[in-house]
Amino acid sequence: MASKETWSKIRYFEADNGVDKFGDPDAISDTLLLSLDDFRHFLQLPLYVTSGVRPESDGRNSYHTRGKGACAVDVVCPQYEGHAIDLIFAAMRFGFSGIGYYPDWHFKGIKCGGLHLDTRPLGMDADGTKNYGHSLWMGVKVKGKQTYIGLNYANIIRNVK
Ligand SMILES: [Zn+2]
Repeated sequence: MASKETWSKIRYFEADNGVDKFGDPDAISDTLLLSLDDFRHFLQLPLYVTSGVRPESDGRNSYHTRGKGACAVDVVCPQYEGHAIDLIFAAMRFGFSGIGYYPDWHFKGIKCGGLHLDTRPLGMDADGTKNYGHSLWMGVKVKGKQTYIGLNYANIIRNVK
């Protein structure tokens, strides 16, 4: 739950500026918000939040819901001129434990792709190793249907221009 104190430390986002869609700015995870602000600072370009906290009807495995910690945002960076792979590498510096890349996302009518970023708690495998399974993915359209594939070199080259 993002406190007033956390929001006061945030440089690039406001709880309700009419542009960023945090959903419920009081419920959003502090950790996520601080990482997002650092990522935005690193990019030195506008980063727009297109979705934050969502109702439980979003699904029981959605980190956008309060039940799962409200620790996810979807963002777009329409002015980013580099390749998507560099944007993904940049995001990886900031401690997000879940990253999804969606090459087909639009912002104000322009196809710019976007990122889902979350700070989900990582589970432990039986041997005590942190389990990073299912935390890097791409969401692509296959014959018009949203399909999830691994976020890796081959899939990026195949699906991103
Ligand atoms: Zn998302």
